[in-house]
Amino acid sequence: MAKITGDEIVFTPEEETKAWENAVALENKEPDEMKMCWICKFYMIYKDKYSETGDIFNWAIDLINAKKKPLDLNSDNLIAVHYNCINLRQKTNATKLLTKIKLVKWKFDEDFYSSDSD
Ligand SMILES: [Zn+2]
Repeated sequence: MAKITGDEIVFTPEEETKAWENAVALENKEPDEMKMCWICKFYMIYKDKYSETGDIFNWAIDLINAKKKPLDLNSDNLIAVHYNCINLRQKTNATKLLTKIKLVKWKFDEDFYSSDSD
Protein backbone atom coordinates (compact mmCIF):
# COMPACT_ATOMS: atom_id res chain seq x y z
CA MET A 1 0.00 0.00 0.00
CA ALA A 2 1.25 3.49 -0.85
CA LYS A 3 2.51 5.57 2.04
CA ILE A 4 1.94 9.28 2.47
CA THR A 5 5.00 10.96 3.95
CA GLY A 6 4.63 14.71 4.34
CA ASP A 7 3.04 15.91 1.12
CA GLU A 8 4.62 13.16 -0.92
CA ILE A 9 3.13 9.76 -1.71
CA VAL A 10 5.54 6.85 -1.90
CA PHE A 11 4.41 3.95 -4.07
CA THR A 12 5.58 0.35 -3.97
CA PRO A 13 7.16 -1.24 -7.08
CA GLU A 14 3.95 -3.28 -7.54
CA GLU A 15 1.90 -0.08 -7.55
CA GLU A 16 4.26 1.48 -10.09
CA THR A 17 3.78 -1.55 -12.33
CA LYS A 18 0.01 -1.31 -11.96
CA ALA A 19 0.02 2.44 -12.74
CA TRP A 20 1.95 1.68 -15.93
CA GLU A 21 -0.49 -1.11 -16.85
CA ASN A 22 -3.41 1.28 -16.37
CA ALA A 23 -1.96 3.81 -18.80
CA VAL A 24 -3.31 3.96 -22.36
CA ALA A 25 -1.69 1.47 -24.76
CA LEU A 26 -0.42 2.22 -28.25
CA GLU A 27 -1.50 -0.56 -30.60
CA ASN A 28 1.75 -0.67 -32.58
CA LYS A 29 4.07 -0.58 -29.56
CA GLU A 30 4.99 -3.08 -26.86
CA PRO A 31 3.03 -2.09 -23.75
CA ASP A 32 6.03 -3.03 -21.58
CA GLU A 33 8.10 -0.40 -23.34
CA MET A 34 5.82 2.43 -24.39
CA LYS A 35 2.43 3.84 -23.41
CA MET A 36 0.56 7.08 -23.98
CA CYS A 37 -0.03 9.89 -21.52
CA TRP A 38 -3.83 10.39 -21.46
CA ILE A 39 -3.48 14.08 -20.66
CA CYS A 40 -1.26 15.30 -23.53
CA LYS A 41 -1.52 12.22 -25.84
CA PHE A 42 2.24 11.98 -26.27
CA TYR A 43 4.17 8.82 -25.66
CA MET A 44 5.97 7.74 -22.49
CA ILE A 45 8.86 5.29 -22.25
CA TYR A 46 8.82 2.75 -19.42
CA LYS A 47 12.50 3.02 -18.57
CA ASP A 48 12.19 6.81 -18.26
CA LYS A 49 10.57 6.97 -14.88
CA TYR A 50 10.62 10.30 -13.11
CA SER A 51 13.22 10.96 -10.45
CA GLU A 52 14.35 14.18 -8.83
CA THR A 53 17.15 14.47 -11.32
CA GLY A 54 14.87 13.40 -14.16
CA ASP A 55 13.20 15.16 -17.03
CA ILE A 56 9.70 16.63 -16.61
CA PHE A 57 8.54 14.42 -19.49
CA ASN A 58 9.49 11.26 -17.63
CA TRP A 59 6.48 9.39 -16.29
CA ALA A 60 5.18 9.57 -12.76
CA ILE A 61 2.15 8.20 -10.95
CA ASP A 62 -1.10 10.10 -10.77
CA LEU A 63 -4.57 9.20 -9.49
CA ILE A 64 -7.35 8.51 -11.97
CA ASN A 65 -9.94 9.74 -9.51
CA ALA A 66 -8.36 12.34 -7.24
CA LYS A 67 -11.71 13.60 -6.02
CA LYS A 68 -12.26 11.14 -3.17
CA LYS A 69 -11.37 12.21 0.34
CA PRO A 70 -9.36 10.56 1.76
CA LEU A 71 -7.51 9.91 -1.49
CA ASP A 72 -8.14 6.55 -3.11
CA LEU A 73 -4.67 4.99 -3.29
CA ASN A 74 -5.82 1.58 -4.51
CA SER A 75 -3.69 0.34 -7.37
CA ASP A 76 -6.73 0.35 -9.70
CA ASN A 77 -6.86 4.11 -9.26
CA LEU A 78 -3.22 4.70 -10.24
CA ILE A 79 -2.07 5.71 -13.70
CA ALA A 80 1.22 6.64 -15.31
CA VAL A 81 1.35 10.14 -16.84
CA HIS A 82 4.15 12.58 -17.63
CA TYR A 83 5.38 14.27 -14.49
CA ASN A 84 4.78 17.61 -16.18
CA CYS A 85 1.17 16.74 -17.06
CA ILE A 86 -0.05 16.07 -13.52
CA ASN A 87 -0.63 19.80 -13.07
CA LEU A 88 -2.20 20.19 -16.51
CA ARG A 89 -5.12 17.84 -16.04
CA GLN A 90 -8.54 19.46 -16.06
CA LYS A 91 -10.72 16.84 -14.43
CA THR A 92 -10.24 15.76 -10.85
CA ASN A 93 -12.11 12.55 -11.60
CA ALA A 94 -10.93 11.22 -14.97
CA THR A 95 -12.62 7.81 -14.68
CA LYS A 96 -15.22 8.40 -17.45
CA LEU A 97 -12.91 10.38 -19.68
CA LEU A 98 -10.27 7.68 -19.47
CA THR A 99 -12.78 4.99 -20.38
CA LYS A 100 -13.61 6.97 -23.54
CA ILE A 101 -9.95 7.52 -24.39
CA LYS A 102 -9.28 3.78 -24.04
CA LEU A 103 -12.04 3.01 -26.57
CA VAL A 104 -9.95 4.72 -29.24
CA LYS A 105 -7.11 2.77 -30.87
CA TRP A 106 -4.04 4.93 -30.39
CA LYS A 107 -0.99 4.47 -32.57
CA PHE A 108 2.55 5.70 -32.28
CA ASP A 109 3.23 7.79 -35.39
CA GLU A 110 6.50 6.32 -36.69
CA ASP A 111 6.74 8.86 -39.52
CA PHE A 112 6.26 11.84 -37.27
CA TYR A 113 9.03 10.80 -34.91
CA SER A 114 11.36 9.31 -37.50
CA SER A 115 14.65 11.19 -37.89
CA ASP A 116 14.49 10.50 -41.64
CA SER A 117 11.37 12.61 -42.15
CA ASP A 118 11.54 16.28 -42.99
ZN1 LIG B 1 1.67 14.06 -20.92
